Amino acid sequence: MTNTKTFIPIPENSDFTIHNLPYGIFSDKRKPRIGVAIGEQILDLAAVARLGHFDKIVKDRKIFQQATLNDFIALGKVKTNAVRAQIIKLLTSPRSPMKNNKRVLVAQANAKMHLPVRVGDYTDFYSSIEHATNVGKMFRDPANALLPNWRHIPVGYHGRASSIVVSGTPLHRPKGQVLPKGAKNPVFQPSARVDFELEMGFIIGKENSLGNPVSTKKAEDHIFGMVIFNDWSARDIQKWEYVPLGPFLGKSFGSSISPWVVPIEALDPFRKRGPKQDPKVLPYLKYSGKQNYDIQLEVGITPKKGKETIVCRSNFKFMYWNMLQQLAHHTVNGCNLRVGDILASGTISGKEESSYGSMLELSWAGSKKIKLSDGSDRVFIKDHDTVTMRAFAENKEIRVGFGEVTGTILPAKK
Ligand code: CA
Repeated sequence: MTNTKTFIPIPENSDFTIHNLPYGIFSDKRKPRIGVAIGEQILDLAAVARLGHFDKIVKDRKIFQQATLNDFIALGKVKTNAVRAQIIKLLTSPRSPMKNNKRVLVAQANAKMHLPVRVGDYTDFYSSIEHATNVGKMFRDPANALLPNWRHIPVGYHGRASSIVVSGTPLHRPKGQVLPKGAKNPVFQPSARVDFELEMGFIIGKENSLGNPVSTKKAEDHIFGMVIFNDWSARDIQKWEYVPLGPFLGKSFGSSISPWVVPIEALDPFRKRGPKQDPKVLPYLKYSGKQNYDIQLEVGITPKKGKETIVCRSNFKFMYWNMLQQLAHHTVNGCNLRVGDILASGTISGKEESSYGSMLELSWAGSKKIKLSDGSDRVFIKDHDTVTMRAFAENKEIRVGFGEVTGTILPAKK
């Protein structure tokens, strides 16, 4: 990897190169504030602001001292991109005042990461044709796996924002109503089918007011950046509750996100043309250009005190519906999105079995055992298992990564 530009040491294969510069909220001995990941360190933007380096762009230095990114993001792209340009300058210029200034850098190893944004609303889509087809085959009709609306609408539902947690936060196995096989009546018990869903989420960077849709053309201006998103799911609870209004308690017990928000601008070198959409979409969903992104994804399961086994390798470029279409669809009825809202992609599965982004698909509804490197096997997630998702984009010259999102499933509460 070439990382000749910055004077900060960047380890080989680091996600956090000078081309990335993701934003997060971190704390050490002092209170949570905004930082930017670079190599194995964090550039403390509150400290940089105190030295006056952002004064020409952002008058209020306190914006960088806040415990969420919302007010920073709300400054708008002209300003946040100017801050980004200033950070690049400060980390690359040979006579930078940041050089050998220990007060502006904190080792990531000594920092605690916090939820990067205050999430007002969270919406989950269902935009991978491979995933939707797999689920349709398992639960409905293998010959007509996709429902008639799927190729016309980026299908989605409103998720629960309050239970979105930052990477590293454990979650208890949820309890709920499930219908045992062959039974007429449900029972109340801990879910026996806790699952992950490999997703990417994007964070809204600009509001649209109520009644004013955002076109696909203008949608990118409303996207601040992206995170890895694990939409934890309790399949047995979900299966019994989801008809006719969709997912509810089988999803709302928790979703985990990675702590670093990668600006959408950093992903520009990894744009890819999306899959052909057939039939043609309605005019408000039409878009032009390369609107998918080549982001490599993987999921690992680590049993208690055990080693990790990678169970899935996928790619964000497989998505049938892109983020611009999701945003345009979400707002086409006049619904207003607010800064900090998260829109998640839906499970990102590819064509290969090894690229399926959930245990539901990997184990084909529990009928196939997934071997782990310690000799044990899984059909769903066991107590004390840790699920880790990683995402990175890479070409011959540069690498832009998301780090990881991890979460451990603890036993159900008594
Ligand atoms: Ca999902």
